[in-house]
Amino acid sequence: MIVLGIETSCDETAAAVVSSDRTIRAHKVLSQITEHREYGGVVPEIAARSHLEHLDRLIAATMDEAGLSFRALSGVAATSGPGLIGGVLVGVMTAKALAAVHDLPFLAINHLEGHALTVRLSDGVEFPYLLLLVSGGHCQLLAVDGVGRYQRYGGTVDDAAGEAFDKTAKLLDLGYPGGPALEAAARQGDATRFTLPRPMMGRPGCDFSFSGLKTAVRQALAGLEAPSEQDRRDLAASFQAAVADILEDRSRNALQRFREERGQPAPLVVAGGVAANEVLRQRLGQLANAEGTGLVAPPLRLCTDNAAMIAWAGLERLRLGDRAPLDFPARPRWPLTELRPPGDPDDA
Ligand code: ATP
Ligand code: MG
Ligand code: FE
Repeated sequence: MIVLGIETSCDETAAAVVSSDRTIRAHKVLSQITEHREYGGVVPEIAARSHLEHLDRLIAATMDEAGLSFRALSGVAATSGPGLIGGVLVGVMTAKALAAVHDLPFLAINHLEGHALTVRLSDGVEFPYLLLLVSGGHCQLLAVDGVGRYQRYGGTVDDAAGEAFDKTAKLLDLGYPGGPALEAAARQGDATRFTLPRPMMGRPGCDFSFSGLKTAVRQALAGLEAPSEQDRRDLAASFQAAVADILEDRSRNALQRFREERGQPAPLVVAGGVAANEVLRQRLGQLANAEGTGLVAPPLRLCTDNAAMIAWAGLERLRLGDRAPLDFPARPRWPLTELRPPGDPDDA
């Protein structure tokens, strides 16, 4: 089976072709970073127009790279939510049109399920596993028992992890987009110089909180007379260390809960844009080892938004007999826990 995937939920216009033997046959991501940079964040209307302008040609180029005609496909998958509704609509309408014209199944993919199943594409990981999903809009710990089978252990009560990176980077004037810029600055900083809070750490459960940490960075910055570049690097490193501590602590609780409830350890999987962070990957690797299991992290290009993960989630659903009706709506909000396995009578 071969599926074309389309991703337009935020500021990446992406298309990819993936086959069920886990081969990525074509992979294209067009970033809109330069279009949003002067605003310091993603502008939904600009994003939607840009997707509309570029998607058709990007899909044609992707099919070219794969060396395939639409006739060779088994289905067309598109992110149908959650995300910025204008962009999601562009991807969904395009995928539905292609599916209708070429008489192919349409697969409505939850973007978060795309992130959640990526390690099955990259590393062939088997169910069940424990997932730390850390992205621009989400921060959650979940037990993943199968396609459409997610048990939520906890999540953020305020900002998402990526959002915290982005806001803190903006505060520190480190450049856009914030996550990678902050990581680069932190590489030259002293992580022990500033003592920042670690909200929720040491408490039972698997919830997160980052807004107090961000405020502490703002206060530390305000306490400096004329912050030098080195001051900002040290603050970046101290912030990153605090986030890594929090994520490690919460993930430990989740791994222990899984083992207590199921009588066996689960592999730890990290996914979403923040999973590209090297310090975090290292810390989670150490945690997984200490807990008698292993860490699986996708390659960097599959951590941030891409369409290979959407094509793969489409393949996983297609081979379980799923397909979505052509009136399936685009959903701006769509929690993972509302998903059901294909064929389940409650499948949304
Ligand atoms: P969601 O997946 O929740 O809908 P999204 O699709 O916008 O949100 P992703 O593309 O999955 O988010 O991830 C983008 C986020 O990852 C941004 O917040 C970005 O700052 C962060 N990020 C990317 N690279 C790094 C890095 N190296 N270190 C820390 N954060 C990073
Ligand atoms: Mg993005
Ligand atoms: Fe994402």
